[in-house]
Amino acid sequence: MKCDSPLPRAAPPSLIVKPRLIRQLFLPPLILILVIVLGYAAYRVSEHYGIQTLSESGARQLELHARTVESEISKYTYLPSILELEDSVSELLREPSPELQNQVNGYLEGLNRRSRSRAIYVLDTTGRVLATSNWRDSDSYQGEDLSFRAYFQDAIRGQPGRFYGIGTTTGESGYYLAHGLEDKGRIIGVAVVKVRLETLEERWQRARLEAFVSDENGIIILSSDPTRRLKSVRPLNEGLKERLARSLQYYWWPLNELVPLERHTLTEGVEELTFPANASVDQEHTQVSYLAQNRQLADTPWHLTLLTPLEDLRREAANQGMLVAVACALVTFLLIAWNERRKVIATRLAAREALQAANDELERKIAERTDHLRASNERLKAQIRERRQAEETLRKAQDELVQAGKLAAIGQMSTSIAHELNQPLAALRTLSGNTVRFLERGALDTASTNLRTINDLVDRMGRITASLRAFARRGEDKGQAQLSKAVEAALQLLAGRLENHSLALHSNFVDATLGIDQTRLEQILVNLIGNALDATQAQPLPELWLEGQVLDERYRLCVRDNGHGIDSEARKHLFEPFFTTKPGEQGLGLGLTLSASLAAAAGGSLSAEHPDNGTVFILSLPVIAGTAPEPRTEAPT
Ligand code: ADP
Repeated sequence: MKCDSPLPRAAPPSLIVKPRLIRQLFLPPLILILVIVLGYAAYRVSEHYGIQTLSESGARQLELHARTVESEISKYTYLPSILELEDSVSELLREPSPELQNQVNGYLEGLNRRSRSRAIYVLDTTGRVLATSNWRDSDSYQGEDLSFRAYFQDAIRGQPGRFYGIGTTTGESGYYLAHGLEDKGRIIGVAVVKVRLETLEERWQRARLEAFVSDENGIIILSSDPTRRLKSVRPLNEGLKERLARSLQYYWWPLNELVPLERHTLTEGVEELTFPANASVDQEHTQVSYLAQNRQLADTPWHLTLLTPLEDLRREAANQGMLVAVACALVTFLLIAWNERRKVIATRLAAREALQAANDELERKIAERTDHLRASNERLKAQIRERRQAEETLRKAQDELVQAGKLAAIGQMSTSIAHELNQPLAALRTLSGNTVRFLERGALDTASTNLRTINDLVDRMGRITASLRAFARRGEDKGQAQLSKAVEAALQLLAGRLENHSLALHSNFVDATLGIDQTRLEQILVNLIGNALDATQAQPLPELWLEGQVLDERYRLCVRDNGHGIDSEARKHLFEPFFTTKPGEQGLGLGLTLSASLAAAAGGSLSAEHPDNGTVFILSLPVIAGTAPEPRTEAPT
């Protein structure tokens, strides 16, 4: 059944962006933005509620101060009408005379002093001042024509004249209250009271209150800040400007507009106004924002505007915004720290679990491997046992084989042995028969010679059988032999022959322990050295070299002489039993055959090489341990 792979396909490496990198790149600006946004929001909320609180307290203050202004104005409302009660005033208006004028002047002066007004004066129906409280002053209104004044025009029509203006005589501002004086239902003149309202301004200044009063034309007539005085709070059109100029209400003041730098309507009757800062009062700021609240004053077309600085509120809001931002940053950092710690703990836990899992896995693998090792160890032990058994079997087989080989060799040799023994036996038979006859004849010398010959023949037969017995003996094929000792023993055995032989012996062999029985090695060496002595017998300078070394874990001993060598026909039969080229009784022809068999029985070999001069026999044997060479050359003996 064909199944789709459940693994999600991996994105190409170039498109992989590590989430950690994204976090590191975007988190700080995000936190910064969050902190700024929250700080700004806190600032706005604080500002909003601050303005709300401020406008509530401002409304209360506005009400309080509006009432104060209203009471200040209303205090003088009825003062002009009081003059109707004074007969001298009415008489003066009806029939002016210097005496009456003086009398009224004095009356007005006294009234003005008591009422603490600025001036009280009386105008006739043409607008000329007939009497005034300041008649003594140099800038007295006496005789002045004030018919152009709006308050006169209102009052002459029977309406109350309310007017704020600047005096044309004194150039002093004031609040004018005018009242048409009636006599028998007819207006015969106008009484005017001029009041100064600067005390209000002084009170505001003392109370550090920022406020102003604007009149019906929008001109600021009272202000805690003198720089705002006689400025218009709204734009004046050309017609109005001209009319005001003609009425000289504000004398020749330019009536500039009080233009705020910024104006925002917050709620009904509440605005935020920003003005340039008054450099003489506030050098710290270039502009000042106010919460502006206004209210119309009762019985007048005037408005009182209260200005509450927003700077403290803004500073407070900014502080709160900053506080929230800092708190937010702190909380964010705490959250990040907590999250990082949580991740570290999670990573540690995961690492611990992974370590535990790896440990468990390792222990499981170790147990598995131990089981495998134990099993393979058992197998190895079984194999070793089998190998040992096989070796034992092999060794036994080899022993059997060697023995069989020996027996086979003896079998091979048996014909030759029979031949070799038959000859001396036949000779013995003949010689013994002859000896009996010689003894019967009394030829004792001849009999004696025959008996010696018989003795020699018996010796020879004994040697043949001794050699064969030694060869056929079982069990000592695998002994140990020290080469140097074997050489020494062989030379000792041949000492008799060496004495009569001027042989130069060159021993240059590495001594070693070889895997062959000591006596057998001596036997081989006696045979080889003995043959060398025979071969070099005719040499004027006979020499023998014994050279040996370890080669490929086998010991290779070369027994070389400079004798007569071996001809090619003889080489073919060298290792055959009873092959000898030696004359008479000298050779048995068993030396090389037996030596080769003994070497083979020890797991080695014997071979011959034929240099131009002499012969080399190479005996190869298993080596057990080798030592440094001991080169020595012995002088001819
Ligand atoms: P034997 O010494 O009794 O003759 P061997 O088996 O020892 O019997 O030697 C067989 C023959 O090999 C010798 O008769 C001789 O001809 C020849 N031979 C052995 N060694 C040498 C040698 N070193 N130099 C020349 N001929 C040798």
